[in-house]
Amino acid sequence: MTFDLTPEQDQLRDAVRALGRRYGHGYFVEKAKAGEHTTELWAEAGRLGYLGVNIPTEYGGGGGGITELAIVCEELAAAGCPLLLLVVSPAIAATVLARHGTEEQRKRHLPGLADGSAKIVFAITEPEAGSNFHRLGTVARRDGDDWLLNGRKCYISGVDEAGHVLVVARTEDSSTGKLKPALFLVPTDAAGLTRSKLDMEIVSPENQFLLYLDDVRVPADALVGESLDAGLPALFAGLNPERITVAAMGAGTGRYAIERVSEYTATRKVWGGRSIGSHQGVAHPLAHAAVQVELARLMIQKAATLYDAGRDLEAGVAGNMAKYAAGEAAALAVDTAVQALGGAGMTTEYGVATLLGAVRAGRIAPVSREMILNFVAQHVLGQDKSY
Ligand SMILES: Cc1cc2nc3c(=O)[nH]c(=O)nc-3n(C[C@H](O)[C@H](O)[C@H](O)COP(=O)(O)OP(=O)(O)OC[C@H]3O[C@@H](n4cnc5c(N)ncnc54)[C@H](O)[C@@H]3O)c2cc1C
Repeated sequence: MTFDLTPEQDQLRDAVRALGRRYGHGYFVEKAKAGEHTTELWAEAGRLGYLGVNIPTEYGGGGGGITELAIVCEELAAAGCPLLLLVVSPAIAATVLARHGTEEQRKRHLPGLADGSAKIVFAITEPEAGSNFHRLGTVARRDGDDWLLNGRKCYISGVDEAGHVLVVARTEDSSTGKLKPALFLVPTDAAGLTRSKLDMEIVSPENQFLLYLDDVRVPADALVGESLDAGLPALFAGLNPERITVAAMGAGTGRYAIERVSEYTATRKVWGGRSIGSHQGVAHPLAHAAVQVELARLMIQKAATLYDAGRDLEAGVAGNMAKYAAGEAAALAVDTAVQALGGAGMTTEYGVATLLGAVRAGRIAPVSREMILNFVAQHVLGQDKSY
């Protein structure tokens, strides 16, 4: 067992950290508050090859795995720039296409995802179905050679920045009532696809949308994969990378908060000569949060290693546990940091309270803590399903 990164992974970590710090949390918040996107950071990360680290080299990527992409997600977040679209575009969409897309789809989409010039977002959540994907109501119906899509999606991140949405639909012939999902690459400017922006209490340069699909016509080659049978494995292919990278983003955010607050508590003195960090009432909660973040990082490393070794089932368990652990640790770290910063914790200047909404959302999305506990209870502990 080794806990060391390879020299290349170490270099990647240092380089991404340097890039993230050059932009920093101030840039991230400024963009969010101006209603703008982190276009410059995304473009530079793309040019430097960081967005395509996990994409095969023949399609312009770095040929690495989810371990490398998790490093990118964690280090940018640790620099105060938790970019949710890393989880959606390079982690979910690129993996789904690399593993299950047709050769034509891989050639057409992966180079743009790798260099950051294109983004593909992911739409599975629906108002009526929520956590229960078996109730998906978005239907894809054949019409000649084309497909017609109808349905509603909610909380879809980054639609305003993307060229395509990877839409999870139910194929109409699944009359058994069992979910037979199919994935479609739908251009964001397709006729019949409309959106409305959701007002979210998250300081983020990335937005969430309600999507309305009303007779959206797409050609046969918009279906991901060679046939309808590719749908289910393609959908599952995106889940492990999603959980591992979102966990990495959470761990990075936790590190960022702990670093910010530790600098402050080590030097702030309000009781004579001692720093507030010398008081155990302040230091222990911070140390506890640091332990939780570090434990989450270990689980992320395990999950990414298993995934990159092709051990998908084990990676599924580890990835879910990593996501749970990192979601809890990030929320704890940010909340604890705000408390130890006192009034400064609630200011924009100290750049920690600005993350409260994001880490809170990290316990709900992309899969809630309760659904992970259900998964662990059933698949690891052998308990009956209650729903
Ligand atoms: C910031 C953000 C970004 C997002 N981006 C995307 C995106 O890009 N694409 C996308 O498709 N979706 C996205 N989502 C949606 C996200 O994946 C869902 O919000 C999440 O899966 C939960 O679904 P829901 O909101 O419908 O909650 P519900 O399913 O309504 O659940 C509500 C509550 O009940 C609990 N619950 C439900 N069922 C059970 C059960 N059986 N046992 C125990 N507890 C249960 C849940 O854990 C949750 O706490 C995003 C959400 C947020 C907040």
